[in-house]
Amino acid sequence: MNTFRDWALRLATLAPLWWMLTTPSPAQMLRVDGARALRHVERLVAMGPRAAGSRQLEQTRQYIETQVAAVGLKAQRQPFRAATPGGPLPMANLLVKIPGSRGDTAPLVLLSGHFDTKRFLDRNFVGANDGGSSTGLLLELTRVLAARRPQLNVWIVFFDGEEAIGSWSDSDSLYGSRHLASTLQAQGELTRVRALINVDMVADRDLQLLDEDYSDRTLRRYAREAARAIGKPSLVMAESLAIEDDHVPFVRRGVSALNLIDFDYGPDNRYWHTADDSLDKLSADSLSTVGRLVLEILRRLEQEPAAGR
Ligand SMILES: [Zn+2]
Repeated sequence: MNTFRDWALRLATLAPLWWMLTTPSPAQMLRVDGARALRHVERLVAMGPRAAGSRQLEQTRQYIETQVAAVGLKAQRQPFRAATPGGPLPMANLLVKIPGSRGDTAPLVLLSGHFDTKRFLDRNFVGANDGGSSTGLLLELTRVLAARRPQLNVWIVFFDGEEAIGSWSDSDSLYGSRHLASTLQAQGELTRVRALINVDMVADRDLQLLDEDYSDRTLRRYAREAARAIGKPSLVMAESLAIEDDHVPFVRRGVSALNLIDFDYGPDNRYWHTADDSLDKLSADSLSTVGRLVLEILRRLEQEPAAGR
């Protein structure tokens, strides 16, 4: 009995130490935590395939809304009907607007990615990297930016319907990003957008980002500089390749955009759009690397002379 009390007291004295070791410090809270981002991806993958129009994608939207609310922000739905080769399909983007410390008139930066997965009959396709990683990282960036507050206005944008319903074409792909780009243009808001930074397939253990060719030259330079700044000088590949992704509808409307994508997923990109796109291929480190890269690029945008300082 006495021994038990003795031990209980000793444990009680250790409690503050335990608390210090397990509770993240404020500085840690402001850093991108790849493990947190990966946990989101695990939750999404557990829902199964998350194709546009599916029950699982609605479940994904609700998950995003809950996680955004948990950090004190609100995800706004932007619903629309997409005309697809399989008929009209209800879709909805999610927007999280984070006001910058320099006020409403400061430039706007969109951080985007898609949350849908490619529609396959194969129930084993869960899009861990393609659809999952972008969603998990954007949720983690939402948490960090809610805590550290950016100088510029930032919108975190979760796009629906990036994937083609049938086979990829200009009219069958990028439904959510085409809808947001045209809506913002119609509202005269597109001119506020200084940059769109899109992430896609960013959790591969063997992370190698493309120097993507539709992307803006200055933003590509920022990405290379940012890679050096985070101690990963060879993160952005030397050779370039053009990839149609959610940034393109914005590029076509004159917005400077950057696509951060690792399009070399497994030997000869073999895991892409197959049941091999599973959690075991992903790494928390890769997610934190891309998150840190995005924040370094954002810092460069905030340092631009025209950024309303
Ligand atoms: Zn895809």
